[in-house]
Amino acid sequence: MSKKKLKKILIPNRGEIAVRIQRTCRELNIPTVAVFSDPDRYALHVRYADEAFPLNGSLPQETYLNQEKIFAIAKKSGADAIHPGYGFLSENAGFVKNCRERGITFIGPPPEAIEAMGLKTKAREIMLKAGVPVVPGSEPIENTESAQAEADKTGYPVLLKASAGGGGKGMRLVEKPENLKPAFEACRREAQSAFGDPRVYLEKYLEKPRHVEFQVLADSHGHVIHLYERECSIQRRHQKIIEETPSPVLDENMRRKMGEVAVEAARVCGYVNAGTVEFLVDKDRNFYFLEMNTRLQVEHPITEMITGVDLVEQQIRIAEGEPLIHETIPRRGAALECRIYAEDPANNFLPSPGLIKALTNPGGPGVRNDSGVYSGYIIPMEYDPMISKLVTYGENREQAINRMLRALEEYYLLGIHTNISYLRKIISHPQFASGDYHTHFIANYQDQLSDSGSKHNDSIALAAAVILSFLRSEQQTAGRQQGQPEHTSAWKLCGRKRSMGL
Ligand code: ADP
Repeated sequence: MSKKKLKKILIPNRGEIAVRIQRTCRELNIPTVAVFSDPDRYALHVRYADEAFPLNGSLPQETYLNQEKIFAIAKKSGADAIHPGYGFLSENAGFVKNCRERGITFIGPPPEAIEAMGLKTKAREIMLKAGVPVVPGSEPIENTESAQAEADKTGYPVLLKASAGGGGKGMRLVEKPENLKPAFEACRREAQSAFGDPRVYLEKYLEKPRHVEFQVLADSHGHVIHLYERECSIQRRHQKIIEETPSPVLDENMRRKMGEVAVEAARVCGYVNAGTVEFLVDKDRNFYFLEMNTRLQVEHPITEMITGVDLVEQQIRIAEGEPLIHETIPRRGAALECRIYAEDPANNFLPSPGLIKALTNPGGPGVRNDSGVYSGYIIPMEYDPMISKLVTYGENREQAINRMLRALEEYYLLGIHTNISYLRKIISHPQFASGDYHTHFIANYQDQLSDSGSKHNDSIALAAAVILSFLRSEQQTAGRQQGQPEHTSAWKLCGRKRSMGL
């Protein structure tokens, strides 16, 4: 592959991840192009970008998933590369091929690798052939009789999964044979409606597993390396909410073995760019390939914290045809990430969109907050209600945890419900502190985690907001008296000449 410096990067995404990519681009002095749906007109990523173009519409299909609109904007803006972020078009092999046809550099893996890893059953087949340990299970199953035969062979309990599944959706636990038939039929229906593909297969349901994944980087010159693991076992309904690195369950020997397998997994599918190889670790510390995610992960910042590597920068360098510089990357310390959501834990985690009336972001030593919001921003109801990813670094796990507790305490958002106090309860739970936990942690301790411990925080935040809004109205009055425009500071955020392609 010949080397080519990228000149302008379009990011067909939104929220914190769009801002996170823009930040690295700005450091590299590469201008960025944002796109936005109607509900996102005032979003942070639109303000931060060098150029921003409307997608006109609200639904994903007519906006962030609309390839024609995105390519038209790429042409108009002169963008020569696209960074997809995660979600939306990031794992769409057809989109990558369309980029290729138009001469646009896709900052991500080749379409062949996305296709190979996109279907869980196909990925399992490839890994089995390569001798990678895979969770025991079946190929795609056509009918109930085959499902029963496969489940008998694997042994109950089994987990039915959509071959094309993702995002924790389309999975069904079957504990005994009499439940298999209805579960299989329901799973096929769900798979068809959620992923447009009814194919289903089954896996042995591992009791009390841990989810441990490895970050890999591969360049276009055949080098593949890993950047250690991330422990992602704190999940609610199969969705990660807290991640940490290093994993408390790995020793050096196991880390080395799993890292080698992760590198091999990337190699056998011809991987290029940043990817993640996910494993489940059972209670006897056997590990099994689960799937490969062919994109930048939500939880990538914790890897950046312990390695000092900017993964987005590496993605751009690799897309430019640069070789990886290091064979192995040193690591240091420990990092944690909490996903901060606008949701109400006291009300079954109901999303809580709305106006952020007051906001104090945490800061100080070892704290990073990858946010997609600002004070005065209205969180739209159309999207996943993630507000930010709060990340802490420490010389060791204890320091990273103490910093996370301190940072969560500092974090005040008024006007919406958040899961901040819920996260604090998890982080301060003795079982979490011990490092000895698995994917059922949240379900097991649900009662201890869900009491109404947020009152104290809310009352302090309320008092702070009342004072803040008083001060603000005073300042605005003073500003108007001096003939100054309101809200200039918010719009100065990007500090560069911006153009809105409205
Ligand atoms: P998705 O692609 O939808 O995220 P994954 O296959 O990555 O689904 O699994 C998500 C989570 O579901 C895992 O992290 C784990 O908690 C649980 N899980 C998946 N497969 C198994 C299994 N075979 N046994 C036990 N838990 C599993």
